[in-house]
Amino acid sequence: MAASRKIRLIMELRRAGIADTEVLSAIERIPRDVFTPESFRHQSYENMAIPIGQGQTLSQPQVVALMTQALRASRRTKVLEIGTGSGYQAAVLSRICRRVYTIERFKELLRDAEARFAQLRLHNITTRHGDGWKGWHEQAPFDRIIVTAAAASVPGALVDQLAEGGLMVLPVGQTSRDQALLRLTRTPEGVVEEHLSEVRFVPLVAGVPGEQATFIQRRGDVA
Ligand code: SAH
Repeated sequence: MAASRKIRLIMELRRAGIADTEVLSAIERIPRDVFTPESFRHQSYENMAIPIGQGQTLSQPQVVALMTQALRASRRTKVLEIGTGSGYQAAVLSRICRRVYTIERFKELLRDAEARFAQLRLHNITTRHGDGWKGWHEQAPFDRIIVTAAAASVPGALVDQLAEGGLMVLPVGQTSRDQALLRLTRTPEGVVEEHLSEVRFVPLVAGVPGEQATFIQRRGDVA
């Protein structure tokens, strides 16, 4: 049952324009049900976002596929992800890239994601509890950066931690209704920006829960 649903999902992704076979094969290999809460498990292979607690969501497979494809990662790349959430996006990346570094501000979500990485023996993922707005200075530079929560503007620290020639894929927007998925390329002449599509993400929030947090954005209407 799950196998046929997974095949249907892969076909849906192909129809939506995902042509990168590395990306499709990584999605085929990572069991999304492992990243889905019990009550939503029967919908693991539907092309939909799924709530994971703390008001956060596991992104829609099509968005994961689109962002992963846009990242143009390979076995040689070292990737930074901001917003571990369930860990699904990091797991998909771990099958394509050399190493994935991922940061999450909710300790509980990170702990669950770490348990899933261990269960699936995904040993090339390194996690950190903290504020992804600041990036991961000690591990920089990164060949690729993917942000899975939307900021009102591009976080400067992340641009600084991007290697020359590196790519960053991130949603940017003031409200959940006007977010754009951008791809930035760091070149010797500066940062080149491409608009990829319209998206809807939960907000990128500065600080970690429990510490005094500065809210970069306040939004109550996020899907
Ligand atoms: N990539 C995730 C989707 C996560 S939703 C997955 O595959 O499941 C976005 C995540 O970003 C949430 O878990 C949220 O807590 C986290 N987040 C938001 N602001 C953050 C910040 N400043 N630093 C780190 N994580 C952040």
